[in-house]
Parts: sequence; C-alpha cells; structure tokens
Amino acid sequence: MSINARPILVIGGGIAGMTAAVEAAEVGHRVILVEKEAYLGGRVMRTHRYFPKMCPPACGFEINTRRLRQNSRITVHTLATVEEITGHAGNFKARIRVRPRYVTGTPSLDGAIADQLESERDNEFNLGLGRTKALYLPHEMAWPPLHVIDREALSDADAAKLQEACPAGAIDLDMADEELEVKVGAVVVATGWRPYDAARLDHLGYGRCANVVTNVMLERLAARDGPTGGKILRPSDGDPPRNVAFVQCAGSRDENHLPYCSAVCCMGSLKHVRYLREQDPEIRATVFYIDIRTTGRLEKFYQDMLDDEHVTFLKGKVAQVDEDAATGNLQLDVEDTLSRETLHPEFDLVVLATGIVPNTADQPLPGDLAYDEYGFVTGDGATAGVFAAGCATGPCDVSSATKEATGAALGAIQSMYGGD
Ligand code: SF4
Repeated sequence: MSINARPILVIGGGIAGMTAAVEAAEVGHRVILVEKEAYLGGRVMRTHRYFPKMCPPACGFEINTRRLRQNSRITVHTLATVEEITGHAGNFKARIRVRPRYVTGTPSLDGAIADQLESERDNEFNLGLGRTKALYLPHEMAWPPLHVIDREALSDADAAKLQEACPAGAIDLDMADEELEVKVGAVVVATGWRPYDAARLDHLGYGRCANVVTNVMLERLAARDGPTGGKILRPSDGDPPRNVAFVQCAGSRDENHLPYCSAVCCMGSLKHVRYLREQDPEIRATVFYIDIRTTGRLEKFYQDMLDDEHVTFLKGKVAQVDEDAATGNLQLDVEDTLSRETLHPEFDLVVLATGIVPNTADQPLPGDLAYDEYGFVTGDGATAGVFAAGCATGPCDVSSATKEATGAALGAIQSMYGGD
C-alpha cells in the first residue's frame, strides 16, 4: 500500500539516513534520500567491525540495501546536496544539486578499464591511505555499484583513452551539475559526522611523525578491503607494530579543540586493542586516558581488557609525541595523574582517539534549523516537520543512531498528519 502524501526528504545516506528511509518507506511513504558521497553507507562502511556485536559493516549494510532496492517508494540521489529548503511542515520545497558522476550506468562499465589509466587520486575512502585510479569504484561493496570519474584528476590523455575503451554511452565526460526541485512533506536530517582534524593536534605528532595514526585510520588498516589487506602495519616501514600507545580524548574534552566528550572513542580504542591482540598475541598496548567511558553491557568488554596482562591502562594526559628519526619510534611525554610522575615511554605506533565533529559544524543546512554551539542539530522536531537523527544530533554509536532514525521517521510521518 502506498500512502498518498508528499514524500519525506532524508538528508544523509549513512546508517541513520538509510534506516529512516527504509522505515518510512516500509509503512507506505515515498522517500527521497539524498547523499553527498557517491555511495550509501557513510562512515559505518569504513569501520572494520562495530559494536555491540563486533559485526563487519557488510551485515547491516547488505540488509539495508536489500530493503532499499526492493522498495520502489525510495528514490536515491548520490553525489547530491540539498541547497535550499523553504515552506512549512507538510509542504516543503527543496532544491537539490546533483554533481556529475561521469559514468552513466548504462551500459555497464568493466572496471578493468581503469588499469589502463595513469591518472590517480588519493583514496578518500581509505582516508588518504593509498591511491586509486581517476576512474574508480568507491569501495568493493559500493551501492549504487557504479564507478565514478574524478574529472579533475583525469588527464587529457586518459580522457581520450576512456572515450576509446568504454562502450558507447557508458561514460559522459561532459556531464554537468543537475538541479532538481522537489516538494516534500517532512525532512529527516541525518548528515552524520567527521573525525576531528588531527593536524590541529601538532603536539601529538600527527602529520609530523609517520607512525602516529588516528582511530579512523586504524579501522581502515584493520579492514580486509583496506590499504594493507587487513594487516595493521606501521606506515613508515610496513612492519607490524609490537608495542602500541592509544591516546584518548585526542582533541575531545579540551577547551581548545572539542570541549565535549565524543562518547564512542573509549569503546573504539578498546576495540582497536582487540584487533591488535587478535593479530599478534604477543603485542603490547597501553591506553592513556582521562576516564574510560563505557556504557551498559559494553562495560564487560572493558573488564575483559583489564584482565589482559598485555594491556596497560595508564591514567594520564599525553603532552607531547616526538619521533626518533632513525627508528620511526615515538617517544611520549606523559604525566601519570595518579603517581604525579612524568614518564617518557617509547612505542612503535601511536593511535589518536580523535573525536566526533558534526558535518553541520561549518556547513549548516539551508532552512530554519537550530544548532548548539558545536554545530549539532538541537531541538529535534522543534522546527515543525524537521527531525534529526544519529551523529547530526550528538556523538552516538550505531545502535543509538538507528533507534533515533526510526524515531525520526515516525516523527516525520506524524508531522504530516497534523497530530500532536
Ligand atoms: Fe575521551 Fe573516552 Fe569521551 Fe572519547 S569517549 S572523548 S576518549 S572520555
């Protein structure tokens, strides 16, 4: 049964946006799902595994894409952003800009053609760890399963090669931005997050020391489809690490960076310690923390780690990280908060637990939305007909994001019928 109301606009095609879209569509509503990247799935697709069950992202993603594919009420626009929203609950107008993919999808393209190209670009999916050709599939489970051309990275010589090698109509290098105007009844904002820019944490060595990586990079290093085929290796020399430091609250809970707690990075680091322990039973890990914040049943995960004699938890703030140029090892300056001693331990890899920044921090959405001082969307439902979910509203894990998304879908549906 299809419900004869205006569609719901869902902004953001990560786990929260996909959930809101399929939940609303499965009760009969039409949905327009807008995602700025070339693929759906958002940040969750870049994790190796996620809580609470340590699932690979493929599990939930596959279920959601199947629900989405099977539901003709959902229209998906990737490489798309919402430029303007006007109107009121039940009767919004949205202007959507769709950027060119340069690959039409009909006829389909043999990805092996990319091997003929010289032009390359940074692999953004792997957070700059490695390169892809200028014609690329964003990642192996990408949905829609379509290649993209990075037009700026593509040389004239490679453009000519593609014109010759691709079947007629498979690519269109003259594709331009497209603008769509849609009428919608309600809006769900699920614009997600990005990691705090570790380059602003110079004292912690990121960008200065090759073997200082961030928590999100570690997820890609651990992933089977990541730049190292799932082996966590030191960027400087490709050696497996033997002694790893985790620096908690890297940017978070700091008035000069992110004053708030990012909520999930303690659990993230505990998970990363587990990745390393599974990779090498002899590896040693030290977690430098202010507090360890684990919630509910996830506390057991922390308790298990406390019992592991290869893992040390040291309450202390890391003040400085420097590199030994000869070995690439890292020396830390840390004050042990409990003993008041200043320590200078050495590690061969340092992982910064960087925090969560809402994508709306410096790019507020068009329309009349309320944000807190950090850019998170506040007053969910306060703008009649507009609802928010997931990390758009505050740092949260996958499980909370999907529950919020279901609530936002329900709120959006109710708002179109004038119910209180
Ligand atoms: Fe710091 Fe843990 Fe909060 Fe992250 S979750 S900001 S590491 S206390």
